[in-house]
Amino acid sequence: MASALSRHPMVAGVVGTVVAVLMASLSIATLYQGRQGVLDHAHETSANLVAIISSDLARNVEIYNLSLNAMVEGAQNPAMTALSPALRGQILFDRAISAAYITGAYVLDAHGRVTAASKDVPLLAASFADREYFYAQQRSPSTGLFFSHPFASRLRGTPTIGMSRRVNAPDGSFAGIALLAMNVAYFNSLLDKLNVGAEGSIFIVYQDGTMIARKPFHEDLVGRNVAISPTFSRMVNATSGSYAAISPVDHVRRLYTFSHVPGTPFIAVVAPAEGDVLRQWRERSRVVGALTLLSGMSFVAVSWLLALSLRERARAQEELVRLAGTDALTGLPNRRAFDERMDDEWRRGRRAGTPLSVLFIDVDYFKAYNDTYGHALGDDALATVAHSIATTVRRPGDVPARYGGEEFVVLLPDTPLEGARHIAEAIRQGVQACTIPHRASALGTVTISIGCATASPPGLGGAYGLLAAADQQLYKAKAAGRDCVRPLAHAAAPVVSG
Ligand code: GH3
Ligand code: MG
Ligand code: MG
Repeated sequence: MASALSRHPMVAGVVGTVVAVLMASLSIATLYQGRQGVLDHAHETSANLVAIISSDLARNVEIYNLSLNAMVEGAQNPAMTALSPALRGQILFDRAISAAYITGAYVLDAHGRVTAASKDVPLLAASFADREYFYAQQRSPSTGLFFSHPFASRLRGTPTIGMSRRVNAPDGSFAGIALLAMNVAYFNSLLDKLNVGAEGSIFIVYQDGTMIARKPFHEDLVGRNVAISPTFSRMVNATSGSYAAISPVDHVRRLYTFSHVPGTPFIAVVAPAEGDVLRQWRERSRVVGALTLLSGMSFVAVSWLLALSLRERARAQEELVRLAGTDALTGLPNRRAFDERMDDEWRRGRRAGTPLSVLFIDVDYFKAYNDTYGHALGDDALATVAHSIATTVRRPGDVPARYGGEEFVVLLPDTPLEGARHIAEAIRQGVQACTIPHRASALGTVTISIGCATASPPGLGGAYGLLAAADQQLYKAKAAGRDCVRPLAHAAAPVVSG
């Protein structure tokens, strides 16, 4: 893995980034699951509150309904008219009507006038025939238990709801109603005990949209019809359910859970604000999110730093390898690097069946140059010669190298003898053209002699056979007077010949 990384250092950065993204995704998914959990829990709590309100209401309504039934039975009994008002009251009104929020119980005749009352209220001469609870019963014998909308009590002025049942005459015709007046405060007392957070709301509403009670209490809202609110229609069409919506009243997003109260026209609704429910979760998520982001970014940064330093190291290593194969004075490949290339090219030539040529170059009378001009100028002259050789050899595959001392070699892959001889001649002329003065030479300037050999591998019995052949040709060039090229024509015979 370490060696794979050093070959492809950027992989470390990419892998680090992918791992960081995966970890961040995992953390986000976990946070989201947590959010779902919090919302589910809030829904459960709301459903429980709705059930408590609903059962409390239903239980009380059931008791009041029994009282109303007793009142109706009593009022329909013909023997009752013969009794004194006090006795009649005792028979008609049971204990339930003394409950805290029942403000009065009445029997009204067919004209809406009070014929019996539970408490010592002056029997009002006025007719209540215009009241909703009255004409609802008057209109139909099958109305059953009826709940009126809130109205201001004529006796006390407090917001009141009338619960009525029909009283029939013996022939079945309308003979009046039994009526319980209930203080709307009862509904508020139900809600007061419950807590749904700072921005939450909890309310009881008629199925037609009339608000009865709400916490937090809102004077303008009680008695107001909220049926036009788009969220309300969702509560009418199902007996219970839940949904999230923005309240049209105060524009707070709430999680509504509702249930119709059995036996009544009421809907109990618990609606904690989403902001309240998710506050703790949001705070925790902010911290976790920031830490995730920070650690993820650090991880990515460290991965890329590692990748960059690995790349830097790989480059430095490459440079070291290159320097180890480079001659410091001339900048050309040294003998070690040349030997490696020579072996490579020899094998390649054998595979491809292409000829390989080598030039062996030696500076003429160079000892004398050193003796005349000094070692330092000798070095300069060698660098100039090397530069001249390197610029004459132009094909990318050609390898000019310093073989040692004032000797150079040039490897010419895929080059026949004629081509090699041509290049050798160009090199010789190139050095001559540098016109480096050389007093001690008969030729007047620094010159070179070149031995040249070509083989088609495995001809000449290996790379070093070829090199040796070129060296022999160099010897011949020297013998021939120097400043010249001596190529060795080699057909395919593996024998070195002059
Ligand atoms: P020939 O024409 O027969 O090649 O004569 P030559 O003097 O060049 O022959 P020889 O091989 O005897 O001399 C090589 C000389 O090259 C010896 C040394 O003074 C010089 N030489 C070898 N390497 C270096 C080098 O790195 N720097 C310098 N300045 N001179 C070098
Ligand atoms: Mg020499
Ligand atoms: Mg020499």
